[in-house]
This record gives sequence, C-alpha cells and structure tokens, in this order.
Amino acid sequence: MNMPDTEGYFGEFGGRFVPETLMPALEQLEGAFEEASDEHQFRRELDYYLREYVGRPNPLYYAERLTKLVGGPRIYLKREDLNHTGAHKINNTLGQVLLAARMGKKRIIAETGAGQHGVASATAAAMFGMECDVYMGEEDIRRQKLNCLRMKLLGAKVVPVNTGSKTLKDATNEAMRDWMASFDNTHYIIGSVVGPHPFPKMVAYFQRVIGEEAREQILKAEGRLPDLLVACVGGGSNAIGLFEPFMKDEDVRMVGVEAGGRGNADGEHAATLSLGRPGVLHGSKSFVLQDEDGQTSPVHSAAAGLDYPGVGPAHSCLKALNRSQYTSVGDAEALSAFKLCCRSEGIVPALESAHAIAYILREGPRMPENSLLVMCMSGRGDKDVYEVEELLNMQGGG
Ligand SMILES: *Cc1c(COP(=O)(O)O)cnc(C)c1O
Repeated sequence: MNMPDTEGYFGEFGGRFVPETLMPALEQLEGAFEEASDEHQFRRELDYYLREYVGRPNPLYYAERLTKLVGGPRIYLKREDLNHTGAHKINNTLGQVLLAARMGKKRIIAETGAGQHGVASATAAAMFGMECDVYMGEEDIRRQKLNCLRMKLLGAKVVPVNTGSKTLKDATNEAMRDWMASFDNTHYIIGSVVGPHPFPKMVAYFQRVIGEEAREQILKAEGRLPDLLVACVGGGSNAIGLFEPFMKDEDVRMVGVEAGGRGNADGEHAATLSLGRPGVLHGSKSFVLQDEDGQTSPVHSAAAGLDYPGVGPAHSCLKALNRSQYTSVGDAEALSAFKLCCRSEGIVPALESAHAIAYILREGPRMPENSLLVMCMSGRGDKDVYEVEELLNMQGGG
C-alpha cells in the first residue's frame, strides 16, 4: 500500500483536522519521523531494543488443539502477548520514545483508556529517563486500578480527566490540548493508528514488525503464505501491523474483528467500521460512531482496549477498497472464546484478542482443511481476570 499520500490521506480518509496551533508540532514530528525512518542508525537502535528489551521476535505458535477443535484451517498465533508489558503496544511506545529522544524532548504525554497504552508509555519513558504524564478519564481510573498503580510505580503521573464521559475520548482531547502548549519539550505518544497525520503512518511503521516477523515465520513453517489473517480492531494498530507486510499478496485475505458489545443499539457496541459512518474525530477523517447530529456516540465493550468510537483511517480505506473485511463479535461470544483459549491452549488471552479467537471459532469450520490462518494474539489477559470473573458470575457460573 503506497499510503498515505504526502498530506496523510489514505484515499479519502486521514488528513489533519486540527487547530492551526497544532500544525507546527505535527510538521516537526513528520520531519523527524521521515528522517529517522530513512536512517540505518535509527533502525539499528530500534531493532536492538525490540530484541533485547521487548523480547522480539516472539513466536508464531501453531495452535494444535485449537486447530483440531475448529476442524478447518491450521491456526497460527502471533504471540504479541509474550512481549514485555504483555501486548503489542510496547512496539509503538518504544519507537516513539526513541524518536522523542532524537528530537531532544524531555517529557512524554499519552492518553489511555484501559491503561495498557499508559503502562507501555510509562515503561518506555522510564527506560529513557523521561518525565511522563498520562491523561486518563476519571471513570477509567476507577475501573483500572491495577494499571494506574503500575503507571505510578513506573514513575508516571496519571492526570485525571473529568470532562464529557470521563473516558478515553475525553482523555485524548486533553492530551492534544496539553501538546499544543508544550510541544517545545514534549512528545505526545498516540496509542493506535489514529489521530492527525503523521500518527497513523508512524504508528503503523512501528507495528509493522508484527507482520514482518509473521511472514518470515509462516514461510519457514509451511513454505507458503497464509490464506487468512485475523486481528481484533480497536483503533486498528495490531491489525495494521499484521496486515501491512501482506498487503501486496492478493491471495492473502484479511479480516478485522470489532467489538459487538451487547448488541447493535447505539451505545452498546464499538463496531465502528460495521455500524459507523465517515466523520472527523481526533484530527482525522475516518469511520466514526456518531448520532444524526454528528455527536460522537458512547461506546461499550467488555474489552476496554476495543472501546473507542473511531478507527484508523487506513482501515476505512481498506474497507472502501474491499482489501480487508470487517465484522464484529459480541461480549458473550468473546467470553466463550476466552475460556476456550485458556483451557485448550493454556494461554490466557486479552479480552481484545478473544474477539479474534471468537471469529475463528465462528468462521473457521467453513474453511478448507489445511488452509492457513494467522491470528494476532495482541495481548495477554492478566489484566482481564477480574472482569472475566464478574462476567461469568453474571452468566451464572462458568
Ligand atoms: C489496545 C489493545 C488493543 C486494541 O488496539 P489496536 O490499536 O486496535 O490494536 C487490542 N489488544 C490489546 C491487548 C490491547 O491492549
């Protein structure tokens, strides 16, 4: 995909819908990123930390029991859950902190919903000795005690946000406001392939390592490319990371799985590409969940990391081009898949990743035997065990 163009557009999506005061920050960042990503020294440094600190390459694991259970494709799991801090998010925060250091920035800010991106940002900031402030909605602070504690222990400050719904969308607004006034000494790390140009392009660049490794690993294991790639989609960074290195391989199908929550009613899900329409959110044009007046809708998912009313512009474009397909999986289906993954593979998956597993359980049986499927196991589920216990109790035991 030769995208985005120089203005940051993926087809009609993307761009830079921000106040004039933010333009210098974005231009400076774009310049620094383009320069760094062209440079061997930067790539070498990034690869060093990905290997020695994050623990890459992580395995592409053949899930034998899951394969037998599904009775269709041979299922391979790309194990981002085995990364330091337990998810793919560290690939991005590490890359951006390295870039911030290059730009001479001394302070990091980030937004977070469930706290996973906040923890990954605080981790990378700590390792490079930078100050770190993480904006987080008061509602999320209440729900995510463990990650708040982790951030504090890592030396970050959690800044409570009490505007709007007091969740991720509001935290993102506050972080952008901070950055407008502070970009002289501060870098803002966005947590997914969203936001104004160059963020969607840059975050995809840092997450592409997922698909690059998976491509090499499946070729080694099976001698051919996979038939299907599957990943969950919140903002869409683990999905783009897996998809991008296969983009030119026309026979490789790609499916993104969104959060179907409790149903299709407004406010009950976060299925942005399935049920939203084009609009502008957080500085770029993409699919957005919104009401008739264009007000951003409230969202729900049992998986906090999928709970976002927008999605990366690259995904909106891939949907328009029909290069990848998008579907949704509800809370209950994800919960069953979570349990099955624990018991059949001995892997406690993140609830986000469980959405991708649920899709495989639903559609896999219809795929030919010996077809090849690669799924991104975006994270581990330690963070979700209390939530899962509560959901299982509500269902009357598990
Ligand atoms: C944040 C998160 C996601 C969703 O983010 P994307 O940008 O869509 O990848 C998925 N899985 C895990 C484990 C996460 O922490």
